[in-house]
Amino acid sequence: MPFPSWGESQEGQSMLKEAVEQLDRAASLLGLDPNLADRLRYPKRALVVTVPVRMDDGRVVSFTGNRVHHNLTLGPGKGGIRYAPTVSLEETTALAMWMTWKCALMNIPFGGAKGGVCCDAPRMSRRELQALTRRYTSEIFMLIGPEKDIPAPDMYTNEQTMSWIMDTYSMQVGYSVPGVVTGKPVSVGGSLGRREATGVGLCNLVFASLLLIGLDPGKATAVVQGFGNVGSVAALELWKRKVRVIAVSDVDGGAYDPKGIDMEAMILHTEAGGKVSGFPGVKPVSNMELLEIPCDILVPAATAGQITKENASRIRCRILAEGANGPTTLEADEILQGKGVFIIPDILGNAGGVTASYFEWVQDTQKFFWDLPEIQRQLSRIMLRAFDEVLALSKEKGVSHRMAALMIGISRVAEAMRFRGLYP
Ligand code: GLU
Repeated sequence: MPFPSWGESQEGQSMLKEAVEQLDRAASLLGLDPNLADRLRYPKRALVVTVPVRMDDGRVVSFTGNRVHHNLTLGPGKGGIRYAPTVSLEETTALAMWMTWKCALMNIPFGGAKGGVCCDAPRMSRRELQALTRRYTSEIFMLIGPEKDIPAPDMYTNEQTMSWIMDTYSMQVGYSVPGVVTGKPVSVGGSLGRREATGVGLCNLVFASLLLIGLDPGKATAVVQGFGNVGSVAALELWKRKVRVIAVSDVDGGAYDPKGIDMEAMILHTEAGGKVSGFPGVKPVSNMELLEIPCDILVPAATAGQITKENASRIRCRILAEGANGPTTLEADEILQGKGVFIIPDILGNAGGVTASYFEWVQDTQKFFWDLPEIQRQLSRIMLRAFDEVLALSKEKGVSHRMAALMIGISRVAEAMRFRGLYP
């Protein structure tokens, strides 16, 4: 038997390299104190756990999981939990770092955290997933709590996963603690609008961008990669607002129809267990081909490292609206900028999720719940404010939208660190 690995993945290594490179470039543009910049390159703490699960066939499989706190200067840790085969300490650390900048950019009082378990969730039964979730929760119990670190959904985790985490934590302490996770169902203390918030928030920024570049939404076309909680909601929202959605994809491939695809019908099709590429009347395309379809709005909402220097020059969109975390490398970003693409970078574009998570946590803490219009109003207020700040800084300093977003997030964290000083 090989020695158990704590999770290494090629994807994770390139993501962490990318995240640190982003930090280094933004820090140098900001003229950040090198002592501070160096501290920000490392996570505050990282916990690696083994999650043994009795599978349906009777075997006990030991999965590897982790939870990383990148920086807690501005508040409790915040960030999702993913169940994916790419999960490694490097991947989680990169994602936790992006959460730090994302929360600071949105000006919400959270630090950056992330967690995950290396597994093939779609192939596991509901019982296996529940056992995995409960054991993982008890293994990271010492790190989480409403004032310490508040997990949320990410790839292959959802409202059900959050309910199991909330229940496991509550059973340990002996009373119900809804504020330990966000992205819960409304019936266990979740917030209205949370599930749709990432996709809807992204769509709001797409509309703000269309207005800025003078494109009529009714004449615009969109391509969406990924049909999970972010991609499917973004595609539906764009379609509802009269954008022609010409291609969408899931992990197994995509569907293309230049006349436009009915997103309500597509969602019914996938909810019934169908694959996106099996939708009637469409042309099947691969996930890589999909990215190169000419369109006005391209939404990568699947996974990291999709748009690289290899394919960036073949991408033909006016607006790149990033729903995934880390879908575009810095090299690709430069190529796209050279082509005049209007980029809504990930920590801005997909921040609707964590912003609505913040509302959920506030409501759980105050035990006072808001109505949907209030949530939608606050969500667009916070996101549009950040959007304006990013555009203004980008113009002022002559830097890309991505650099501007990073610079705002990083400088807020750095300023708070400077005031708080170095302990002891
Ligand atoms: N997983 C989401 C993200 O990457 C949401 C995190 C949260 O709500 O805490 O932003």
